[in-house]
Amino acid sequence: MRFFIPRGADSILGTSLRDELLEALPSTDNDTFENGIPKYVQSPGLMGNSLAAIGARHQMWESNSDHLSSSSESCGPVVSFGQALRSAMEARDGLDEPNMMAESFGTSNQDLTENDDAVEDSTDSRKSSVSSEIADKLCRIPREQGLDAQDFRCAMCRKTIGGSFFAKFETCAIDSKYYCPECMKAGGKIPIPARVVMDWDWRERAVSDRGRAWYEANQEKALINIKTTNPRLYKHVPALEETRQLREKLHLVSMYLFTCRESVAEDFRRRLWPKEYLRSDIHLYSFADLMDVKSGSLIRRLKHILKHSTSHVMSCTLCKQKGFCCELCTVNEVIYPFNTESTHRCDVCFSVFHVECWRTSGECPKCLRRKNFEARRAQADDPNNTLLVLQP
Ligand SMILES: [Zn+2]
Ligand SMILES: [Zn+2]
Ligand SMILES: [Zn+2]
Ligand SMILES: [Zn+2]
Repeated sequence: MRFFIPRGADSILGTSLRDELLEALPSTDNDTFENGIPKYVQSPGLMGNSLAAIGARHQMWESNSDHLSSSSESCGPVVSFGQALRSAMEARDGLDEPNMMAESFGTSNQDLTENDDAVEDSTDSRKSSVSSEIADKLCRIPREQGLDAQDFRCAMCRKTIGGSFFAKFETCAIDSKYYCPECMKAGGKIPIPARVVMDWDWRERAVSDRGRAWYEANQEKALINIKTTNPRLYKHVPALEETRQLREKLHLVSMYLFTCRESVAEDFRRRLWPKEYLRSDIHLYSFADLMDVKSGSLIRRLKHILKHSTSHVMSCTLCKQKGFCCELCTVNEVIYPFNTESTHRCDVCFSVFHVECWRTSGECPKCLRRKNFEARRAQADDPNNTLLVLQP
């Protein structure tokens, strides 16, 4: 399957051979290429450790535009597996736009005309401002403003409340406003999303009819970003941390399934539907998801999907080839980034190593090669330097 990234997404760089070379090149001038092969082509030492990259060493640029498309594609360059994986990792770290990969996989409508785009834009911005309002209410505990702020009236029916001669009142835990007993009667008690997000406090509190209606209308909306609202929660809630790790794995393994046969990708999408964000934006939750974290049902579901996905990769001839070889040891074994317990990924270039090898070495050989190459290039660019240093 071929998929696309938007134009100008320069930050998305892969770990494949071609990606690395293009990255190392000073420009894309025609005279830097000879028969389609850059004059800067380095020894294999400069290349990454993915099996795809290793394979590519033997068939240098054999298929000229297989990995990187020419500009004839209207949607931007075709992305190699290495690029997809790398951008997946960057997205995981919150460096990327959350739905970027979802769009890359063709779930967005690419055929919009410009006019439609404009209409879409204004609808989108309205939608996003409504969403951010709801997200804010889901994540922030409102302060009580005092009865005078409400003019001593019920926030719903406007009946006079407060004071010894007037009707009694209660506070709704959703909006911290005051309501008459009539308007609180049907609300009952529920756990309050903002208190769960802030303190993992699941105590049930009284809410107004209006508060319950709002809660019911919004509890399924995935608008709570734990990383941006309260990342400490991962440390304090083991089940949430376990969910984060499972979703990270799912995110990584999805790169394999989405670059496999279309039927495999489709099957994976179906398994996640309608919660695509579980893999594309791993810190995003609806309040219902947080309830499922607490009950354990989300962890069970994620484990089930993961088990199915990883066993596909291990047994699929296409997916197996997209594994990595650890450059730090001589063990002849294919390793995968989604095995997060046994592998380590370089934070800079996203090469994959055994976790024990990484612990002993502590330095990424690929980054080291790149650093040396940059240094040699800087020396070569220096007009005062007459030595030819651009040698492998
Ligand atoms: Zn009322
Ligand atoms: Zn496969
Ligand atoms: Zn190793
Ligand atoms: Zn590295």
